[in-house]
Amino acid sequence: MSQKVVIERVRLRGAAPYLGMCKIDDGGYAPFYSENPDVVMDWLCDAWRCRYNQLRSRRQKWDREKEGLVPVGRDTDMRTDRQVREECSWLAAVPAMVLQSPNRIENTDWWAANKRRKTLKKKGQNPGSMPRFKEKHGKRMFVCWYNNGANARYRQLNKHHGEVVITGQNPGKYKLDGQPCRWELHIRVRVSQRIRAYTSVGVHWDDRTLVFINEPLPVERRVTGAMVGIDRGVKHTLALSDGTFQDLPHKRLKKIDKRIRSLQKSQARRVNMSGKTMKEYRKNPSKTYKRVQKEIGILHRKAHNIINDWQQKTTTRLVRDYDIISMENLQLSDMTKKAKKKEDPNNPKRYLPNGQAAKRGLNRSMRAASLGGISQKLEYKTQLSMTNRLVLINPAYTSQTCSECHYCAKENRKSQADFQCEQCGMSMNADVNAAINILQRGYEHLLGVDDAQRVITEQDTRPANRGKSASARTRKTPT
Ligand SMILES: [Zn+2]
Repeated sequence: MSQKVVIERVRLRGAAPYLGMCKIDDGGYAPFYSENPDVVMDWLCDAWRCRYNQLRSRRQKWDREKEGLVPVGRDTDMRTDRQVREECSWLAAVPAMVLQSPNRIENTDWWAANKRRKTLKKKGQNPGSMPRFKEKHGKRMFVCWYNNGANARYRQLNKHHGEVVITGQNPGKYKLDGQPCRWELHIRVRVSQRIRAYTSVGVHWDDRTLVFINEPLPVERRVTGAMVGIDRGVKHTLALSDGTFQDLPHKRLKKIDKRIRSLQKSQARRVNMSGKTMKEYRKNPSKTYKRVQKEIGILHRKAHNIINDWQQKTTTRLVRDYDIISMENLQLSDMTKKAKKKEDPNNPKRYLPNGQAAKRGLNRSMRAASLGGISQKLEYKTQLSMTNRLVLINPAYTSQTCSECHYCAKENRKSQADFQCEQCGMSMNADVNAAINILQRGYEHLLGVDDAQRVITEQDTRPANRGKSASARTRKTPT
């Protein structure tokens, strides 16, 4: 959760920061100071990256030949913050809130990558490598902790402007005569809305943007007593048990999809391989190829933003309107519908894409991603609220069971969209029927669960009352 604002200008007040020892003409070293805000910003970015990489060097990776753990880099740096301040002159005057911030960020980076690799491996996709060091010529940035106003304080100047003040102090040894020890960096930013309480600020110097990192707020809501079951629809993105549907903005997404396809086609026509393989060509492509590639990237990002926006709005609406939300546990349903993996004979680490999945392309992946995002966002939003419950259930047979008499048979489902019960003759939209079943199963599972638990996950249990005996199940969901 964050708020991004644009940096308009940076000013320096107080002392000139001490940036470290610098080589001078006669071969010796002299302390270097600068009053130029651009230089100071660059110095902070470099110092932050340096500390980040020092911490990263402590990580270990598995070495196949040695069959043991080895450091990710050439050597490990175990020095504490205090030690590096003394030994690396360019870190001496860095504010503590900046020098300490890579600690947690490096840690989150590492474990997030670990988790991502695990899921990708489980899905049979290329897991990618663990994160390594931040490059010298990568994006320049640094983070400063707010820490209850210890640094990076924000002040509103007028309706559309504010400023973030980062303060630092030169070491007493390097205090210049007639100057104070302290210096202040005033970063003036343009804001369009109120700045919420934040825990740290990230300064992205290349983009001239500043990001306030804040804890997410719970959705404002009143207890409604309403419950809902959610199923992924065939025609609609989400089908709710009350008979309504929630849809992605398909028209806009289709337009973008079409544009991407036509760009990809024109790009393929333009490629002049002249004996090179595609991999070789991509290393040194033509100007047009690069431009089109960039345009495609922008379109992908646009589609992603549209989906994300829809997810945020839909989940907030759901969390606000319903006390209990029941939906399928995607991990369980993935297991039941798992496609057979085909291994690439040339490269055993990579799997060939499933032909059918690849054919359906972008649209399909968009839909799949949108459901995953929905459950993830619902999860954290319910965890923040005190009056919500999210129940994740195993969706097996929910699409074949009658929501009225609980008769379960394949024949109940007349077509993709229609459901008609063979036993009692009830007919309705197949997705809504499934959503009602999901709600009932979620409600049954909720009975007898710990009260404090906000997100409840059902284990992989097959319903015992399959087939005709299902009619024995008579418990109805109260409304
Ligand atoms: Zn029935």
